[in-house]
Amino acid sequence: MRIYADNAATTKMSRAAIDAMVDCMESHYGNPSSLYELGQEAKERLEQARAEIAAVIHAEPGEIYFTSGGSEADNQAIRSGAAIGKKTGKRHIISTAFEHHAVLHTLKKLEEEGFEITLLPVHEDGLVRVEELEAAIRDDTCLVTIMFANNEIGTIQPIRELGAVCKARGVLFHTDAVQAVGHLPIDVKDCNIDLLSSSAHKFHGPKGVGFLYARKGVRLTNLIEGGAQEKGKRAGTENLAGAAGMAAALREVAGHMTENAAHMSALRDRLIAGLAEIPHSALNGDAKKRLPGNVNFCFEGIEGESLLLLLDERGICASSGSACTSGSLDPSHVLLAIGRVHDVAHGSLRLTIGEDATEEEIDYIVRNVREVVEYLRGFSPVWRDLTSGKTPFIL
Ligand SMILES: *Cc1c(COP(=O)(O)O)cnc(C)c1O
Repeated sequence: MRIYADNAATTKMSRAAIDAMVDCMESHYGNPSSLYELGQEAKERLEQARAEIAAVIHAEPGEIYFTSGGSEADNQAIRSGAAIGKKTGKRHIISTAFEHHAVLHTLKKLEEEGFEITLLPVHEDGLVRVEELEAAIRDDTCLVTIMFANNEIGTIQPIRELGAVCKARGVLFHTDAVQAVGHLPIDVKDCNIDLLSSSAHKFHGPKGVGFLYARKGVRLTNLIEGGAQEKGKRAGTENLAGAAGMAAALREVAGHMTENAAHMSALRDRLIAGLAEIPHSALNGDAKKRLPGNVNFCFEGIEGESLLLLLDERGICASSGSACTSGSLDPSHVLLAIGRVHDVAHGSLRLTIGEDATEEEIDYIVRNVREVVEYLRGFSPVWRDLTSGKTPFIL
């Protein structure tokens, strides 16, 4: 038995996405920039993918730029916002403490280049406060970048309200929507989003392709020079198979979004209820304002890494937080941002279920997590100190 419960790290490609890619590789191998028919057919196929993607987030096809994934889209969006600000002498950027590293590391670079960065706090419920954004905006603020939904704890931010504040104050608004696209309804116009990042492999598309939405009139900065592709904003022969696979995957998940969300959130709540029965445990992030498939817990007195290895032996693929930081011994910056202390943050478990999850799988996960946590606590010195009263319980 293998249960894949790490869909926030990546997802299994859908049949529709694979078929679309194979079709492009076999039949549309021309270069979209070539003038003969084979090239122009490839170009048409690319533009069809662009239009399909645009429709899902209520954008215009001309506002979609293909990238190599979410990280590139985040880098390009933030660099573009910074460049626009710099032109008018604005060098202040607002973000949050629990963004993906593609955002945080880009901001760090910009700080070294003379920009000033304000990171808004994230509250214990895993949400930022609209009033705190409002208070942080200054006359020299050029960009606000706040993620749509967090990749570790799944909390969904009040994007529409945040977008309205940015619009009222005339500040560009970028959102890293990598975890949200294909999983939540998104209307970029209604939410006043100027820039939005997305990645295909988080919604059953291929790895290595994503897109950046840039509202008409927002001037993008190139990260890659060398050609006229993507209106001169992203050079390099287009990844047609990737773009077509991404569009096919998105079309499919968008077509079943309501049913998928209902099914997954019912299973998510069953999983949360089951794990909450484990003593000295706590759910991370708001119980309801979270992605339909996301469950993230802390268990006191254990090591998250050992938990993962033992769950793997029992066929469960899970994560302690972000795939990007696993392997390092630092606790998750997201859990620290919501106020978990180091010791507690170390005992974290993220389970992100997919559309095809079943009740039997959820019950198997609950049973096995319970057994493994009990087993690990059995020989944990930290747990011994907690139970003997030497150190106080936190959870
Ligand atoms: C996965 C992820 C990214 C990075 O996307 P890639 O396509 O893997 O580069 C960025 N932001 C968030 C929130 C993510 O979950």
